[in-house]
Amino acid sequence: MSKVYGKETICIQSCWKPANGEPRVLPIYQSTTFKYESNEQMGRLFDLEESGYFYTRLQNPTNDFVAAKICELEGGVAAMLTSSGQAANYYAVFNICEAGDHVVLSSTVYGGTYNLLTVTMKKMGIECTVVDPDDTLENLKKAMKPNTKCVFGETIANPAMVVLDIEKFATLAHEHGVPLIIDNTFATPINCNPFQWGADIVTHSTTKYMDGHATCVGGVIVDSGNFDWTAYPEKFPGLCTPDDSYHGIIYTEKFGKGAFITKATTQLMRDLGSIQAPQNAFLLNIGLETLALRMERHCSNAQKVAEFLEAHEDVAWVNYPGLKSNKYYELGQKYLPKGSCGVISFGLKSGREGAGKMMNHLSLAAIVTHVADARTCVLHPASHTHRQMTDEQLKEAGVAPDLIRLSVGIENVDDIIYDLKQAMEKANA
Ligand SMILES: *Cc1c(COP(=O)(O)O)cnc(C)c1O
Repeated sequence: MSKVYGKETICIQSCWKPANGEPRVLPIYQSTTFKYESNEQMGRLFDLEESGYFYTRLQNPTNDFVAAKICELEGGVAAMLTSSGQAANYYAVFNICEAGDHVVLSSTVYGGTYNLLTVTMKKMGIECTVVDPDDTLENLKKAMKPNTKCVFGETIANPAMVVLDIEKFATLAHEHGVPLIIDNTFATPINCNPFQWGADIVTHSTTKYMDGHATCVGGVIVDSGNFDWTAYPEKFPGLCTPDDSYHGIIYTEKFGKGAFITKATTQLMRDLGSIQAPQNAFLLNIGLETLALRMERHCSNAQKVAEFLEAHEDVAWVNYPGLKSNKYYELGQKYLPKGSCGVISFGLKSGREGAGKMMNHLSLAAIVTHVADARTCVLHPASHTHRQMTDEQLKEAGVAPDLIRLSVGIENVDDIIYDLKQAMEKANA
């Protein structure tokens, strides 16, 4: 038996394994097309009778090496990169849902995902019921309908910092014969592997910690291979009945545990084309090499910053799952024993006005829309992403008017704390 490597080793060594004389570093296959010797072989590729690359709108070797590394980190069987996290979540759902189907969604998911499912996919005829992630299993079951095809949640919600009870949601999905899709962006596979808790499909915005340096927008979908589509062929005809656009192949018959990712590649990438550029996949891979190391630092820094904020007299509240006082501390201990992530939300006693004032005095932490990269940054949703809303509307959207989202970077933690301290002092002056 070969040794199973730790995640730190997988981050560095997995995926590209050069043969004698080949480049040590994963090359960028900067090519739209791939050459074949015979007409017949090219034909077999188009029939999915033979595997091989033919056009970078569907697949590219650089992307696949990087997807394989993320797949290994998550403990899945197959994975694909997408051009963004939004595309990953869209493909993950649309691969098994069509007009007339229904999705159950945790209410605290990232705003982009919420909009995708409740507004844009609704226009495509896919209905969505939004549920409270903290509700009891009994109550959550009321949201399930005969046409429900998946349940969707986030390991750690951005920016609400709600830790999802993944096992509860897996039970909800599986009792109904549908898969659980988990967006694992904030936790990363270093801190949580949702497959271990019953999730079936995992997605990420690789734009965040995986890239880690705020250089490239990207996404990934990973399949655990655990969900048995063939047990419910009537629910998942796209996977279990013939695809006429490929001479009637049946994905589950031909590709087994690779069915979900193969279908998403050969149908959705072919028709919608949200592929990640190989250049970006190359940069993503460099980010992944240090992911384990960076997550450790993000978490230890964020823990210290959260404790500093909680003890500060100007701070009204702090939301970080690593704090013992936090509502999600217990769930965090269960699902995220190594730490959650670097993102903290908090409010000042001086409220909405005070937040803006304090942020203007920060010198190390920059005001940016981004989260989850190496540099410390802040965002005040009420003044930025949600600025058109009144205090009432903000509350309905689950964003407190005074909420500051602080993404703690990997700088020296004393410098980050010093910056926050001096900004709060100056804001009071
Ligand atoms: C940012 C984010 C997304 C969207 O990803 P993009 O790469 O920006 O398209 C989806 N889910 C979560 C949890 C995110 O933080």
